[in-house]
Parts: sequence; structure tokens; C-alpha cells
Amino acid sequence: MTDTEPTDTPPFDAARLAKAVRQRLQSLQRSGVSSIQTQTGQSVDLHQLQNQLQHIQQHGLPEVQSAALQPSADESDTTPVDTITNPPVTAPAPPNPTPATTPTPAPEPISSNSTTPSTAQESQVMPSKKQAELDIVCQEVADCTACVELASTRNKTVFGVGNANARLVFYGEAPGADEDKQGEPFVGRAGKLLNKIIEAMGLTRDEIYILNTIKCRPPGNRNPTPEEQQNCAGFLKRQLEIIQPEYIVCLGAVASHSFLECNTPIGKMRQQFFEKNGIKVLCTFHPAYLLRDPRRKRDVWDDIQFLMKDMGLPIPKKSEGVT
Ligand code: SF4
Repeated sequence: MTDTEPTDTPPFDAARLAKAVRQRLQSLQRSGVSSIQTQTGQSVDLHQLQNQLQHIQQHGLPEVQSAALQPSADESDTTPVDTITNPPVTAPAPPNPTPATTPTPAPEPISSNSTTPSTAQESQVMPSKKQAELDIVCQEVADCTACVELASTRNKTVFGVGNANARLVFYGEAPGADEDKQGEPFVGRAGKLLNKIIEAMGLTRDEIYILNTIKCRPPGNRNPTPEEQQNCAGFLKRQLEIIQPEYIVCLGAVASHSFLECNTPIGKMRQQFFEKNGIKVLCTFHPAYLLRDPRRKRDVWDDIQFLMKDMGLPIPKKSEGVT
């Protein structure tokens, strides 16, 4: 036997290979390289490639790899969200109205391919430490009485749920009756619809994080007041500092306006990314609104596909993603 004699070939490990390639790409990016050329001369954006590799690292090779790299023409016509519930039965209502106050424009949108500061960070470290930090904030929320009315009427505080290392956070309005009972966001009918959207992305609730503008249910499901949102803003800030997501999807006008501090109609904020604290922010309609007007599901699916492309997630074919 020689030193070069072949040995048993180790099993193919896509996650390890993806990690190694990502590290090489990060090294290139630190050297100032933003794209590379394939053998056919095609330019490939390193940020997008990194996103795809990160997905492989976390989830293994996607079933529809070709769709991830080269979306076909008919994919833009796919509407998995349309299959979630019954066809529309009512006339479409206007997008969630904004109060008749002085318009505060949304911040300037950013390029969908721009790199956010958090993307450059290796946030996939020490999830248990992150969870421990979240647990401390969660306990503070449970003890909070800053909003006198909410603290005296709530059953449970609704801190948030999901993966402390999530790349993606869904940001909703405020807890409703079901959430108040269970202490978890998005568990009612709107929550079930959000689950379908998450599944259509090829993800699960365990892989993302879900939270709301405030942690306590406003009586009668009224909108949270600006003062209540202000009282709770510190908790949100600390949650996001711990999780360090790359993306936040604001669900509905209340969440979008609260997070981006504007009152631009939600219909004008869709299909583009904003940037806040190094996080890419996408705004779309709230699942509860889709229950009232199912025709808007197609708009939301368009927004979600816009997000998935930027995240490097494979777009499912028409029959995939939602059952
Ligand atoms: S909504 Fe937030 S700030 Fe207000 S009482 Fe609940 S936890 Fe405290």
C-alpha cells in the first residue's frame, strides 16, 4: 500500500461543501470582489450566490435547483397563495387606510441586490446564547405594565416565536384574541394563512421568527396607539439586536408604518426593499386582510417571490409549495 492508495470515498456533504464555498466567497468579498464569471462568461453576483449557499447549508440541496438559479417564464404566473382558501366572493376593499394626517413618506427604497451589514455577519453562531438572551427579554415583557390598560386586560403577553438565528422575521400588528389566550403570535385564522405562506416559501415556523408591534392585546382588537407602540419599541429593538435577521416582512399598514415611521399607503410600499438598521424591509398586506379580500393573495405571493429571489430561495413550481 502506498500513501496515495485510494481509500473509501466519504459521503457527499452538501452543507459542508456550501460552507466551504461560502467562506471562500466571503474572503473574495473582503478583498473587494463583488461578482465572478462562469466558464460561459456569465457574471454571477456574490451576494446572491452566498444566499443560495447559505440556504443549502441550512436545508441541504433544494429539490428545484434549476428554478433557484434560473427562474422560468411561467414561474412569475404561479400563485400558490391563491390555492390556500376559497376563491374571492366580495369586491376588493381598498388597501388598509392610513390616518388623514400629514403625509410622512416612506424612506428611499434600496436595491434588491444590495448587501446589508447583517448579511456580512456570521449570525449563525451560538443560537442557545441568543435564545437565552431572548428569554431574559421575554421575562421582562411578562412583567411589563407600561401600558396600564393593556396590562390590566391581557391574559398573556405575546413575546414572539421562532428561531433565534432566523434570517427572516415576519412582523405583524398586535395580538388578537387567540394570541392573547395562547401567548403566541399568529395562531388564529390569519396565523394559519401565514403558515401557508411560510410553507409556500419552503420554510417552517421553526426557521423564521414572528413578532408584533406590541406584546399585549388591545381590547376589542383596536389598533395599537402610537404611545403603546412607543412603550413597546424597546423590546422590539432588543429582540432584533439579538436575532440579527437579514430580512423583515412587515405585514399590513400598522406594522409597516410603525417600523418604517411613515404613513405611505401600503399599496405604494410593496415590491421594493427599504433598509433599517442594516435589515432589508419588505412591506405587504396582512393575512387578516387577505381573509377579507382573497384577491389580494396574488399580490402577496408576488411580494413573497420578490423576497425569495433576493434571499436566494428556490421558487416553487405551480403545483408545489402549498397543498
Ligand atoms: S404592550 Fe409592550 S409596553 Fe405595553 S404593557 Fe405590553 S409589554 Fe409593556
